[in-house]
Amino acid sequence: MSDLFGGLSGLMKGLSGFMPQDDPNVKIMNAQTEINELKKKETEIYAEIGRQVLAERAGRFPELENKLQLIKMNLLEAERKLKSAQEEKESIEAAKKAEEKALTCPSCGTYNPEGVKFCQECGSKLGALKCSGCGAELTYGTRFCGECGKKQEE
Ligand SMILES: [Zn+2]
Ligand SMILES: [Zn+2]
Repeated sequence: MSDLFGGLSGLMKGLSGFMPQDDPNVKIMNAQTEINELKKKETEIYAEIGRQVLAERAGRFPELENKLQLIKMNLLEAERKLKSAQEEKESIEAAKKAEEKALTCPSCGTYNPEGVKFCQECGSKLGALKCSGCGAELTYGTRFCGECGKKQEE
């Protein structure tokens, strides 16, 4: 939230730099920016006072403290949802990448359509990978060749 306001006021200041200073529109915009910044600072100070009062006199505002507690619980839940959605996104992207890799010919690098077992360009078996050391056939994701033990590139 604070980044948004900071960005907006920064943008407005940037724009006002190109306008004549006696234009009432510029004056209105500058005054609104200043008011917004001051109100934001005022709110921040009230919030800080609230934190200090609560730390010293817990139980003084039971209704507001209950609301605060609920917000904290919802915040934890929302953060958990965000994390699981990010993990879901990552696993979808990883699966997509693995699928793309399996459809890319290990010999000539041609990208083949889904469901194809042999490269349409050179006839090499797809999903197979040749060891860079001994030429043994490996499957994708193999880290070390089972024949010669050479570490395979990603
Ligand atoms: Zn090929
Ligand atoms: Zn090998």
